[in-house]
Amino acid sequence: MNRTSVTKQEFKEAIFENIKKQYRKTIDQATEEQVFQAVAYAVKEIIIDQWIETHKTYEEQDAKTVYYLSMEFLMGRALGNNLINLEVNTMVKEVLAELGFDLNAIEDQEPDAGTGNGGLGRLAACFLDSLATLEYPAYGCGIRYRYGIFEQKIVDGYQVERPDEWLKNGNPFEVRRSEYGMEVKFGGNVRVVKDELGQERRVHENYQSVRAIPYDLPIVGYDNNTVNTLRLWDAEAVQSFDLGSFDRGDYQKAVEQQNLAKTIVEVLYPNDNHYQGKELRLKQQYFFISATVQQVVKKFKQKHGDISLLPEKVVFHINDTHPSLTIPELMRVLMDDEGLAWGEAWAIVKKTCGYTNHTIMSEALEKWPIELFSRLLPRIYQIIEEINRRFCAEIVDKFGSDNERLRRMAILADGQVKMAWLCIAGSHSVNGVARLHTDILINEELKDFYALYPKKFNNKTNGITQRRFLLHGNPLLADWVTRKVGDGWITDLPQIKGIAPLADDPKAQKEFMQIKYENKVRLAQYIKKHNGIDVDPRSIFDVQVKRLHEYKRQLMDVLHVMHLYNELRDNPDMDMMPRTFIFGAKAAPGYRRAKLVIKLINNVAQVVNNDPNINNKLKVVFIENYRVSNAEIIFAAADVSEQISTASKEASGTGNMKFMLNGAVTIGTLDGANIEIAEEVGSENCFIFGMTATEVLQLQREKSYNPWDIYNNNQAVRRVVTQLINGFYAPENPELFREIYDSLLNGGGEPADQYFILKDFDAYAQAHREVDLAYRNQTKWARMAMLNTASAGKFSSDRTIEEYAKEIWKLEKVHVEMDM
Ligand SMILES: *Cc1c(COP(=O)(O)O)cnc(C)c1O
Repeated sequence: MNRTSVTKQEFKEAIFENIKKQYRKTIDQATEEQVFQAVAYAVKEIIIDQWIETHKTYEEQDAKTVYYLSMEFLMGRALGNNLINLEVNTMVKEVLAELGFDLNAIEDQEPDAGTGNGGLGRLAACFLDSLATLEYPAYGCGIRYRYGIFEQKIVDGYQVERPDEWLKNGNPFEVRRSEYGMEVKFGGNVRVVKDELGQERRVHENYQSVRAIPYDLPIVGYDNNTVNTLRLWDAEAVQSFDLGSFDRGDYQKAVEQQNLAKTIVEVLYPNDNHYQGKELRLKQQYFFISATVQQVVKKFKQKHGDISLLPEKVVFHINDTHPSLTIPELMRVLMDDEGLAWGEAWAIVKKTCGYTNHTIMSEALEKWPIELFSRLLPRIYQIIEEINRRFCAEIVDKFGSDNERLRRMAILADGQVKMAWLCIAGSHSVNGVARLHTDILINEELKDFYALYPKKFNNKTNGITQRRFLLHGNPLLADWVTRKVGDGWITDLPQIKGIAPLADDPKAQKEFMQIKYENKVRLAQYIKKHNGIDVDPRSIFDVQVKRLHEYKRQLMDVLHVMHLYNELRDNPDMDMMPRTFIFGAKAAPGYRRAKLVIKLINNVAQVVNNDPNINNKLKVVFIENYRVSNAEIIFAAADVSEQISTASKEASGTGNMKFMLNGAVTIGTLDGANIEIAEEVGSENCFIFGMTATEVLQLQREKSYNPWDIYNNNQAVRRVVTQLINGFYAPENPELFREIYDSLLNGGGEPADQYFILKDFDAYAQAHREVDLAYRNQTKWARMAMLNTASAGKFSSDRTIEEYAKEIWKLEKVHVEMDM
């Protein structure tokens, strides 16, 4: 089958067949979940021929391929996106309607592929969509976690984590490829032996190993026949386990290997922007990297004799430092398996690898203890020792022997392996993810490395795919844009600029605001169903959804809500546009303070939502289990996008871009990509407030900030901060929020109010007053919202991927023809 050749009748019959074969049922007996499965398998059948054809074409053309290596791919649901990219959405919707089913309800049966934490994993997912749409040969490579990011329940206002059993009913789109299994070795020791020719060779012995088995998922390009692959590795025990046949030593080893295989891919670590030095995490990293690198080299050798040509056909991209073992692993394969000398191998590795830095916060930088690292990966450690020795020699060569500099830059120092430094040494490209972030890397955090390798550093501002976050997530607005300017924006987002002239057209304004209203009704229904709270779709929907982290300052948002509530209690007739503050955020299960902020938001919601005196002016909602599927609904319905991180801390953000595309107006700091958003839309069409990155960095250096000065001089601030400890929001336990109070005023281990919440509070409150005033003028607001959508062209991941492909990866497009 081919997308153009599938008729409604054929598709209908495919659904009937699947239901019959899988469930021994007819369609009228099938549950919605079973219909989802049947539809998904029918769609897979459309995909599969294009998938085969794509890879045949890549083989024939011997195309250079990027392997995008990432510990996380936050894919969300596949069905709806696949229907859209195959351009069979309307056909399938009609077929299902004829069978008495609603496509949305069927899509809702699919669990999210939650194999990622937040922005970093979602970026990887958007990149795969763009790579396939732009016809670039690409694999995503990662781990097939049995359990993805936990499911969040809110119980009595607290976050409770439940396991995410996303594979419980199987994954209809995946294909197991056991023939491509690879062995990955851990532990043991390395012995040097001399071969017949007197050459030294390394023998790895006494190791434990697991078998890595790839599961392939199709990544469908938009309307172009291209289907790329997301390859997720599963782990299996190497030997099958026969109790009778082992002596004692073998038995022990067999049990251990069995356990290793079971545990290694069990669960995604639920930390976002925070390093946790767990041995199992390092095992996960080496597991999927070793399997990928070995498999890629093996595939290359099936076609090519000369391994030194690898960089002409292969590029590995290292998404943050989690896949940094690519560098020493490729060295190992090239030297120990392929017999290359160090210099040849190192030249190949550097040409083949590129690295993206995602954060400058020290708590997020990976630094493995040498003791742990060398025990788990003895050969890899030896290679890193040599990389480090040569790297330090290069530094001395360039700058003279400056011990302070060497201590700062060495890959091995303070008993640790510094993974970011390894990536910089072993890659030909190092990029940040927004202009400000890259500037801070070059001028502050990585300035020593920039002095050594100025040409390696470059910026690639992040992006998002408009296919998921407008075409799929907001069909009403997508159709409207298409009616106004044609459908070119679907693969060329800058064309959306064509709606800008309509921003002054009263009729278009009305249509745009009506669509926003209908999307708010959709979200209000979701909130009613999940939270039991009535929210008014005519109120301003003011939304902060993202991982919970102190630097993202959800606390500042809720403190401001508390402040507004104080004002309303003082003066219930206060002139204020009704506002609904909507939050959604998962906190890392071990991040106590973040979880306490969730409890605070929920307690504030409880008090505010049940106060009849102000009720029509203020509502607070915490949406549980924020994830890609409900994110799509939330962005479409937002009026105001909260992007309020402490300046300099958010590398880019991508949530900010999704809101903008959907016509929400940003209230934000000059941080990450907010700066570029403000530049595109114009500062008069967003609400920028607060300290700049330069001011924050300076104040941090000076260590002169004292939040008590603000507390003592600002009555509004003093009042909300006091409400954290006077039982106003926790009558049963007035001490409940003491930790938050202390973090703002006293610090503790860290500086008091280290994210400058009190410092920025007044500016933030003032920006909110301006939002309120702007919204009163619906003409003005419609214009602002429309100009946000119209100005989002730069923030397509298609633009980002074109930049990576041209400037870092040097990829050529490969068009796939389907013969009918
Ligand atoms: C886009 C996205 C993120 C990243 O949001 P930021 O605001 O950039 O931190 C996190 N989670 C989900 C589900 C997303 O879709």
